[in-house]
Amino acid sequence: MKPIVAIIGRPNVGKSTLFNRITRKKDALVDNFPGVTRDRHYSDAVWDGVEFTLVDTGGFSDDKEDYFSDVIRWQILEAITDADAVIIVLDGRQGVSPYDRDIIDLLRDISKPVLYGVNKTDSIELEDNLYEFYTLGIKPLYPISAEHGYGVPDFLDSLVKELPRFDTEEKTDIISLAVVGRPNVGKSSLINKIIGEKKLIVSDVPGTTRDAIDSICEYNDKTYLLIDTAGIRRKKKVSNKLEKISIIKSLRSLDRCDVALILIDSEVGVTDQDVKIAGYAYERGCGCIFLLNKWDLIEKDDKTHKKYYEHLRMEAKFLSFAPAMTISALTGLRVPRIFSLVDEVFEQYTTRVTTGKLNSMIERATLKTEPSLHKGKRIKFYYSSQISEKPPTFISFVNYPKAVHFSYKRYLINQIRDEAGLDKTPIRLMFKEKSGRIDFGSKKKNRNQGSKKYKKKK
Ligand code: GDP
Ligand code: GDP
Repeated sequence: MKPIVAIIGRPNVGKSTLFNRITRKKDALVDNFPGVTRDRHYSDAVWDGVEFTLVDTGGFSDDKEDYFSDVIRWQILEAITDADAVIIVLDGRQGVSPYDRDIIDLLRDISKPVLYGVNKTDSIELEDNLYEFYTLGIKPLYPISAEHGYGVPDFLDSLVKELPRFDTEEKTDIISLAVVGRPNVGKSSLINKIIGEKKLIVSDVPGTTRDAIDSICEYNDKTYLLIDTAGIRRKKKVSNKLEKISIIKSLRSLDRCDVALILIDSEVGVTDQDVKIAGYAYERGCGCIFLLNKWDLIEKDDKTHKKYYEHLRMEAKFLSFAPAMTISALTGLRVPRIFSLVDEVFEQYTTRVTTGKLNSMIERATLKTEPSLHKGKRIKFYYSSQISEKPPTFISFVNYPKAVHFSYKRYLINQIRDEAGLDKTPIRLMFKEKSGRIDFGSKKKNRNQGSKKYKKKK
């Protein structure tokens, strides 16, 4: 599990510029997720070998005018409660603003690492601007230029030094479940229902992060871990206007789970926020199940189910593999059934496909439908293998990896789904370059070595 670092600050201080600078470098081997509403406000990053997830909480504000509005205050509180470290960006060109004082006051007593970056310090000459910020009584202050990179390496060195290290979680047979969804969809009702079920044995276990409490429950002789149940059960007293999804909390529980239970309020229908949360789950590579909750409130006829499922599929196309079911957290309708569906998803999620099987699948698929030509040349698939599970992730060596069209990739994924019986799990497929010619590099070296030896002997 990666620590989460939140960037906060007033609008226009350079938060998104800094975010982009830190997260820009991407591993060449990243899967892209077409079809998902991309939220560019969080991303995984790595510095000096330390991985973390960076979240630009300000990026989630729709409210740019009133810049110290309640919304921003809420975001800061979210960062304080849920992040592992906080970056405060200040504007070195504009100098200290009264709002900076407010932000800093909110953060004064927190026990997490807080780093202050005085941004727009584009050169050493501008470091004089820093003195004004010392009047705020905060330190250390880092002069940085998000735009030009000045000071950023030192800043990141300090950041990663301060980040907490999480023990890699034990590998067990326990299936971890995250219950996610917008406020009021029924997350706490569901958790309470599950925990209140007599058939379930429940116990609390401290989670890996500060305030998290997980619950263990057993059902049909299997053990499940419900992630951060305290976080869900503990109702924050926030006004309706301010009820927002805690992005950090969602990311954190999605990072830790095997299967995400994505709750939707059937009465309201699928909203943009629901799709956004489903998108996070998809990007984090979780197994996903949609639970259309509050089904007891829906007037039904024999077409109702179908109508709701179709609506869901249309809104969240990228999660077409995620099974969906209707439930009522209030009455308990089909709540036990969730666990058998979880088992099914988990089994697929942890599947290993043997290399032999995989290669014959890909071979059959490419013979049946050939990829389109790339600049007049054939795209060749040489060799494929599964590099990891949770979710099943495959890599294919091809001559022109970038030329494989998205629709062809989807076709291959669907073939794997069909043939390996993986219809309910996310699957990742990546392409890597392998040149068609045989690489004589190492042989050449051997030959040289050989001739040396030969000379020596002589
Ligand atoms: P945000 O609202 O805090 O996310 O701010 P942005 O990242 O959108 O930046 C606001 C403005 O400040 C943009 O015009 C950026 O080009 C500019 N800016 C950001 N970082 C720097 C910097 O290091 N130096 C200078 N001179 N301008 C910067
Ligand atoms: P959370 O914010 O996602 O944790 O949502 P809650 O569990 O607090 O539920 C919000 C409201 O919806 C509460 O008033 C619940 O009683 C109600 N609710 C939750 N699930 C159901 C359901 O299945 N049926 C009905 N009728 N109401 C529900």
